[in-house]
Amino acid sequence: MSERPERRPAREKYLVFGAPTIGEEEIAEVTDSLRSAWLGTGPKVAHFEELIRGYTGAAHAVALHSCTAALHLSMLVAGLKEGDEVITTPMTFCATVNSILHAGATPVLVDCDRDTQLIDPARIEAAVTPRTRAVIPVHLAGRICDMDAILDIAARHNLVVIEDAAHALEGVYRGRKVGNISHLTCFSFYVTKNITTGEGGVVTTNDPDFAARIKMYGLHGLSRDAWKRFSDEGYKHYQVSVPGFKYNMMDLQAAIGVHQFTHVDRWLNRRAEIWRRYAEAYADLPVGLPVPDAADTVHARHLYTLMIDPRDAGVTRDEFMARMHSLGIGTGVHYLAVHLHPYYRDHFGYRPEDFPNATWISERTVSLPLSPGLSDHDVQDVIDAVRYVLHGKRGESCS
Ligand SMILES: *Cc1c(COP(=O)(O)O)cnc(C)c1O
Repeated sequence: MSERPERRPAREKYLVFGAPTIGEEEIAEVTDSLRSAWLGTGPKVAHFEELIRGYTGAAHAVALHSCTAALHLSMLVAGLKEGDEVITTPMTFCATVNSILHAGATPVLVDCDRDTQLIDPARIEAAVTPRTRAVIPVHLAGRICDMDAILDIAARHNLVVIEDAAHALEGVYRGRKVGNISHLTCFSFYVTKNITTGEGGVVTTNDPDFAARIKMYGLHGLSRDAWKRFSDEGYKHYQVSVPGFKYNMMDLQAAIGVHQFTHVDRWLNRRAEIWRRYAEAYADLPVGLPVPDAADTVHARHLYTLMIDPRDAGVTRDEFMARMHSLGIGTGVHYLAVHLHPYYRDHFGYRPEDFPNATWISERTVSLPLSPGLSDHDVQDVIDAVRYVLHGKRGESCS
């Protein structure tokens, strides 16, 4: 492997972390929606749902405004209520846990595995009480959780499994496509995700009752197909069945998604290629790299993360990020664990040592650019910058 680059690598243009890849097709389709004057939920949303249904193999897909909305409504239709407990991981985005609170239930965090960074099934089992109703595994970075173990625990304790698959649209677990494994699966199409609709989310399920109720709850609680009420079939009266939410996806969003979707597998292959180049280029550096994929799974390659321990690397994670920034490369942190944020710390009395693995990861993790739109030149720039910063001796200023 090459030595530390001699010269300070310099980029002309800042490499933004998580930039979406938007083509002329998306632009034309959004323009078409604007010209057709059908902006809200309509035929393009139905088409996008059909694409996700076909891709995942799930019987139903319901498009919503976000993955957060998808998680919230999944918990509502699963019948969660005040006092019910939902087990999840602290190593996730805050939305996973916020949505448990929105549903009126109580989050119960259990620590993740330090190597895979995924929720630890043995700790789920140990945390089950008579009040536990659901478990939310999070396929962090695109790595798929140990679903057989989780489904087994859920079956024995009669729990609903709601997957947070915001990072894992392309994931496969032992021959089963993510979206067609458990009771409810929530995907995100936020700007930085593997494909985007700007803001957007989808729930997939094989339960027709869950699907129908999510659709209803997502649009004010109106009766079926209420979105057609202003269509060319003439005015239709609608009925309010429950006080629902305003979570429906717009055709303007789906217009982006239907074209993003055509790239899904090619973009996964491109991210996998960048991943392999990173793995090779950093193998000799004093940092932790992602562990190998579990057998018989497809990793969705959403995030490539390094673990920076200042005792080995000579820089803290935050110094590493600052130096990458000064070299023109944006990085991210996924995540500062939920229990370290003030609301959760103060409200639930969590201490960092309650979830030692999640705390350990929070202090060290940094995500490198992995967009499919990166050129080979961009990838080499990231590699040169990482090697330049990490081969710097302790205390030596690289920036
Ligand atoms: C992005 C993300 C969400 C929230 O998705 P939105 O579509 O922005 O609501 C939830 N969980 C995880 C793990 C995420 O990364």
